[in-house]
Parts: sequence; C-alpha cells; structure tokens
Amino acid sequence: MYRLTISLTLLSSLTFAQGVGDWPLHGLDYAETRYSPLKEIHAGNVSRLGLAWYLDMETRRGLEATPIVIDGVMYVTGSWSVVYAVNAVTGKRLWRWDPEVSHAWGQKACCDVVNRGVAFYRNRVYVGTLDGRLAALNAANGIPLWQVQTTDKNQPYTITGAPRIVKGKVIIGNGGAEYGVRGYVSAYDAETGKLAWRFYTVPGDPSQPFESPALEKAAKTWTGEWWKHGGGGTVWDSLSYDPELDLLYVGAGNGSPWDWKTRSPGGGDNLYLSSILALRPDTGELVWHYQTTPGDSWDYTAAQQMILATLEIGGKPRKVLMQAPKNGFFYVLDRATGELLSAKPFVTVNWAKEVDLKTGRPVENPSARQPAMGFIQQPGPLGGHNWQAMSFHPGTGLVYIPAQETGFPYIRDTRFKFLPGTWNLATMALPTADPLPITPGMLLAWDPVRQSARWSVPYPSYWNGGTLATAGNLVFEGTADGRFVAYDAETGEKKWEMPVGTGVMAAPATFTVKGKQYVSVLAGWGGSFALIGGRATKDGGVPGRLLTFALDGKTTLPAPPPPPPPPALFASDADPKIVPKGAVLYARWCSVCHGFGAYSGGAIRDLRYSSEAVLRSYPKIVLEGSYASAGMPALKEWIGPEEVDAILAFVVTQRNKAAAGK
Ligand code: CA
Repeated sequence: MYRLTISLTLLSSLTFAQGVGDWPLHGLDYAETRYSPLKEIHAGNVSRLGLAWYLDMETRRGLEATPIVIDGVMYVTGSWSVVYAVNAVTGKRLWRWDPEVSHAWGQKACCDVVNRGVAFYRNRVYVGTLDGRLAALNAANGIPLWQVQTTDKNQPYTITGAPRIVKGKVIIGNGGAEYGVRGYVSAYDAETGKLAWRFYTVPGDPSQPFESPALEKAAKTWTGEWWKHGGGGTVWDSLSYDPELDLLYVGAGNGSPWDWKTRSPGGGDNLYLSSILALRPDTGELVWHYQTTPGDSWDYTAAQQMILATLEIGGKPRKVLMQAPKNGFFYVLDRATGELLSAKPFVTVNWAKEVDLKTGRPVENPSARQPAMGFIQQPGPLGGHNWQAMSFHPGTGLVYIPAQETGFPYIRDTRFKFLPGTWNLATMALPTADPLPITPGMLLAWDPVRQSARWSVPYPSYWNGGTLATAGNLVFEGTADGRFVAYDAETGEKKWEMPVGTGVMAAPATFTVKGKQYVSVLAGWGGSFALIGGRATKDGGVPGRLLTFALDGKTTLPAPPPPPPPPALFASDADPKIVPKGAVLYARWCSVCHGFGAYSGGAIRDLRYSSEAVLRSYPKIVLEGSYASAGMPALKEWIGPEEVDAILAFVVTQRNKAAAGK
C-alpha cells in the first residue's frame, strides 16, 4: 500500500489536480513503481483488448517516452524533444511544440535523438530538450512560459531524460559521458525557471574551490588530471523521491572516458561514478551514497530506474530502494541510510564473483581489469538492464525487468587521444562486421526478497520495451520484434498480444477517462542498440506511432511496407587494399550511428542502400556537412579526403555484399 500513501501525499502536499485514474508522474508515482491499481482490464478479459486509436509521431528515430495523462489529456514527447498534447480518448492532437533543436546536435547524442517524457505541474508541462534547455509550457496550448539553458553549449551535453517536480522544483540532469563531460543534476524553480541548486557528481579541478564537502571527499578517490576530460557520472535518466524521508534519489552514470586507467591513472574508486545518491531536494546536499561499481571501466551506469518499496526482509518491513543497473547485479538498499541489504546477479555476470555484503563492494574477476582479446566480459555496455523501465507489483511482490544478456571485449585503446566533441571512450570499438556475442535476454519476474527469478519469458529479439504492472494481474510490455504483449503477472503466461509493426522500446502507461481504462505505448525503434545496427522487425521502415488500447478496441494499423529490394552493385575504382583501413575508420567515426559493419538498425538510413549520387558525394557530406540539417555533422575537423575514400571503399564493399545477397 506504499503507492497509495505516496499518491495521497502527492495530492495533499503538491496540489496536483489529477484524478485517481491519471498517470501524473513519469513512473506513475514518486516511488517509480509503474504499478497501477486499475483493473477494468484484467487477466480474465484482456483477450478482448484492441487498438482504440493511433497517432503518427512524425519520425523514424527512436521513441522512448512514457506519456503523462492528466484529466483526459496525454502529454508525450517524440524524437528531437518535440512535445505533443493529445486527447487521450480520441487520439486527436491538441497542440505540438517543437523546440527546433538543430539536427546537427544529433551527433552529440550517444544513443539517438530520443526523449523519455515530460513532467506536469500546476497546468504546466516541463520538458528537457536534446540541446540542454529546460522549458515550461502552458499545458492548455503548448506556448512556452520560460526556457533556460541548463548546460554549456560549448560542451557535448544532451538531455534525453524526463524532468521530475519535487517540492516546487524541477529536477533535471543530462548526458554526454561518452564524449567527455562532467555530470550534474540541477533544480530549477518551477514558477520562474531560476536555478535553485546544482549537484556535481564528480569533482572538478582540485586547484579550484570544491562546490561541496561531498566533492572534496570524492576528490580523494581520483588521480591524475581527470577533470580535463570531464570525468562523467552523468544523471541522464533515473530520479525518484521519498516524501516521508524527504530524500531525492539520483542515479549517476559511467566514467568519462570509459577506461579507468586513462581517466584516473593511479586508480581510485572515482566517486560518485556509477552511484546511487540520496540528496536533500531543498538544497542538493548529499545525505548518503552507494557506489555500485567502484573504478568503473565498462560503462556500468547506475542511472537505471530506482524503485522505492517496503519489503519484508529478515522478518521486518524495510523501506528499500531497488535498482537493476547495467552491471548485472540487482541491489536492495535501505533507502534511509544507503545500507546494502542484498545484491545478486539477475543475468550472466562474469566481471565480479559477488558483492560482499560487509564492505558493499564487488569481488572482481581480475580479467576485468586486464582486458585482452578473448575475454568477453558480461554484461557489456548495453547492460544487463538499461533505461527500459522495470515495474514492481506489490501483490505478487515481483519486479518485472526487461533483462538483457550482453557481452563485450573491453580493449583499452593505448593510443587514445582526447578529441573534443567526439566519442572519447579510450576503449576500442570493434573493427568488425561480425555481430556482437549477445543473446536477446528475457522478461524477468524477479523476487527482490529472495533475490531469485520466479519466472522468465525469453525474447525472440534484442532490446525490448519497458514494463507496466497492474492490479488486473497483468504485466504489459512491447517487444523488439514488434508486438505488444500482456502476461499473467503471477505466472508469466502470455494472455494477449498484437503486432504493432515496429520494435517497441518505451514503457506503457495506463489510465482511465470517464471510468474507462486505456493502455498506451509508443512504438518506435531506435536508441543505442538500433544505431549500432540492431534490427527491429523483419519489415522495419514503419514510422513511430503512439498506440492506445482498450477493451473491444476496433482500430487497425496500416499494413507495413515490403522490405526494400537489394541495392545495385556499385562499381568502384578504389584500391581494395584500403578497405581494411576503411573498416577501422568506419568503426571509429561512423558505426555508433550507422551501425557496426554498416548494417543499419532502421532508425537511420542504411548506408548500403544509398543512391549512387550520394555515394559519389561522400567528400561533401562527410567532410563539409552538406547533410547537416538531416543530422550528419561535418567531420573535416578530424579526418581528411583520404580517410573518406577509405570509409567509402568499406561501405561499398558492404553494399556489394548485400547486392550479391550475402
Ligand atoms: Ca554511457
């Protein structure tokens, strides 16, 4: 009944005007449970579920938002931070606000030009934009009331996470740790947009005064000149809040650059990377921290969702915080103190044997610090669990995790040189056309008290959607292979599914209008996995859509287009000897958006299928930026015509393989 308490607290102290059937906050409640008490749709009648309406989201890039629903109006974001208000019963668009983010900024987003949603407070809609603005819009018409720049635009910061409103302040973080930035979270006055406080997650230049005592302490865990490359620790997604304890929980991301010894040559834990932080929401003061991955070297963010609940542990009710971060361990912490109560692997983990409950530290596998060809570390950078939301059902006591089985050979780049504004990992991307050694993972129903799986459903395809649990004994989830599915929450038995034409990453929301229950989800393929070449459906090519379901819904989706024919052979006079060099250059400069081996995941056009005219224009496109408005930046600052020729030779080789049906 934790959620009920929180909802009542919300209603009384924060003057939300929503009814009980609304979806007022990003994770439904401050505890981010994504558990709805609605049960008109239940395991016994979900077979009658059908599509009520859909809305074209005007994009083929990734869709990751959870809609907010207040009083029959849905507020949702698409690609490029565009905000939509939609009639939640009819799907009619009421207004649209495009922050007009320059598409050249897309190069600064590690993981697609996505946005995870808005916050609603006192008839205002708050959104963070990809280029680092925070905007307050009039909820009635979408007209901005104020906008503030929350980042230094000379640095590659981006915002993809949803703002949260706590005690009249808008809490917002940002991303950019793949490029070289210093992470922080900020609070702005919700009325005026004035900065109230900012908490940096990693220390700056120690010759300057520290911004807080917490950072002075943290600086002792760093070595070398980390601040020159930012250090990382970005707060790019996860925030939750406990009104009783008055603690704001913040999930901090990975190190920047990734490689520990490059970032902090003398070692050290590098606080507060990969940490869960408890802050006072009025001041930003740090109350406690728990570091999941000391000395992170593997993109092991702790920026994944943190669910607050009361669990009976050792015969006593404990107020806990639960997180399943990228590193593959499921953590249960006492959220008043940060004490580690338990941690167990929920997917295959080989970087650490266990987490020592006495010290709270992982017992590492030495191979993880001496990466070499041959050691495929698990999980990889995509994580045992990523941003795709999990949910907690207090009735079943289970956490429903979109879990992933990932691996990656982290190889230190000994010739690393920091190039501002580009990916700076100091870890080598694979110069290979072979697929990564990964399997799709599974929807995992995890018992957080016993720290074991109750049931699981293997995924046919990789990179699936977030989950929603309901009192109707259901778990809803969209899949990478383009289905929307309802499972029995107790057993995992599939109760209903419907094809939705494209891969789903986003989490569903449920709500009522005039007593009738609806379930909504964004279907739109993209994100980091799609950019590196991960495919959604066999068909693909379907634009992103907002889908809303109800009992006896009768709307149908248009048939998907047929797959494109193979490309024509392209005659090239390039010396085949430059192809291997092109493969390496392609991996460094192109693969993180255009796919490893030039295999597109569908969110961005497949380079192998370009017209001959486009292939002949590579110098203009790649060096001069003639497609900058489409999001392809000019690279002349970093590479020259010879490199472009080699990249083209590699892409043409890959194209001609496709043309030959290989
Ligand atoms: Ca990262």
